[in-house]
Amino acid sequence: MEITKLTALELGRKIQAGEISVEEAVRTQLDMIREREGEYHCYITVLEEEALACAKKVQEGIRTGEYTSPLAGVPIAVKDNICTEGIRTTCASKILENFKPPYNATVVKKLDAAGMIVLGKTNMDEFAMGSTTETSYFGATKNPRDITRVPGGSSGGSAAAVAAGEAFLALGSDTGGSIRQPSAFCGVVGIKPTYGTVSRYGLIAYASSLDQIGPIGKDVADCAAMLSVIAGGDIKDSTSVQQKEFSYLGALADDISGMRIGIPRGYLGKGLDDEVRSAVLSAADLLRKRGAMVEEFDLEAVDYAIPAYYVIACAEASSNLSRYDGVKYGFRTEDYEGLEEMYRRTRTEGFGEETKRRMMIGAFVLSSGYYDAYYNKALKVKAVIKRGFDRAFEKYDLILGPTAPTTALKLGENLSDPLKMYLGDIYTVSVNLAGLPAISLPCGRDKAGLPVGLQLIGKPFGEREILRAAYCFEQSIK
Ligand code: GLN
Repeated sequence: MEITKLTALELGRKIQAGEISVEEAVRTQLDMIREREGEYHCYITVLEEEALACAKKVQEGIRTGEYTSPLAGVPIAVKDNICTEGIRTTCASKILENFKPPYNATVVKKLDAAGMIVLGKTNMDEFAMGSTTETSYFGATKNPRDITRVPGGSSGGSAAAVAAGEAFLALGSDTGGSIRQPSAFCGVVGIKPTYGTVSRYGLIAYASSLDQIGPIGKDVADCAAMLSVIAGGDIKDSTSVQQKEFSYLGALADDISGMRIGIPRGYLGKGLDDEVRSAVLSAADLLRKRGAMVEEFDLEAVDYAIPAYYVIACAEASSNLSRYDGVKYGFRTEDYEGLEEMYRRTRTEGFGEETKRRMMIGAFVLSSGYYDAYYNKALKVKAVIKRGFDRAFEKYDLILGPTAPTTALKLGENLSDPLKMYLGDIYTVSVNLAGLPAISLPCGRDKAGLPVGLQLIGKPFGEREILRAAYCFEQSIK
């Protein structure tokens, strides 16, 4: 039996039953990483010794009954913008190249308490800004389905690691699509939870009002299991919701009869690749055959989502990234005279092009002369988008559409044209602006054999509904 082929939950069951040891599982993954990293480059840091030491501890804990999670002993990967105590956490930036956080993010503590084993920290776009993982200071990740293509981004390393069999599950973060779009490009499943479901404590901030951590896995059940572990209120994140019950595995019933699903007409129009459109519409047909009511409707303000998102995200980024000044932690330039020059050179040398572009846009839209024209207006558009979804959810339980307008792009294709790259986020960013949960899962392939992603968007805290529909779809195409 090939261990790597198992899903995370299958592996967890075999570990609990004593058929596979935790060490065996970890060693298999480390072998895969050794064999494949040269080609794919999913990781920035691999934690070989730490993972093996942790395997021993967890094996013993399973024996004594300390670890009862269905994912105990499962080797996983963590995006490199999530703080790990004493282990460098770079955000794929030169400015944090050698930063070792003095504490663990809340999600990392939760994974540890459940007995999951961190194999390493995954590659990403610098500070999670991008859609291709090419803006990483450490070089691009390749898409394991076709190495001439990007894995998507910004959580491209996490999605590629799962697709390549270099981790059973991974954590990503999603500010405007960074879990869903790379999951779509790599043919895996990813969930962006409702804002407030997962603690952001220890997630290095990009745009705080939009950021959420979520799981990337081989199938819907694996993602539901990991989300159950990481969800829950946290006094260290005042935007996390103090709700007790976050258990998602029970939601995976293979039955969607009577479910009402809406497809925004604006999600099927100009700019959408024909093959992606036909794969998504076939998926909708299949759900209809399984007993759901599916129809098209007009969602408000679809065209304004991208400009509003980029104004708000850049504004928050310019504020969040002002802390990297060479004083408190991270990189400091060697050659300077006086404080001001130290700041300037540190930031000039430490940040990449895309992060600089966003900080400049952000500072501009927040400046006193332009605040009302851009930032304030974007907040108003955000409210209109939210209202549009609220109205849609009076009629529908779920909203269905593509995750991205195309399948995985060629490496280098979008780097020179940032605007084109931003437009690729059309179907994902409004979900963050409205704070909603959404899942991306594979729904077929295009003629080149590249995976197409189907996106299901839920009501606030409607994770269970999107999981049920996703699970039902996945079972139907098995
Ligand atoms: N591609 C989007 C951006 O560049 C989303 C990134 C993300 O979700 N972190 O901002």
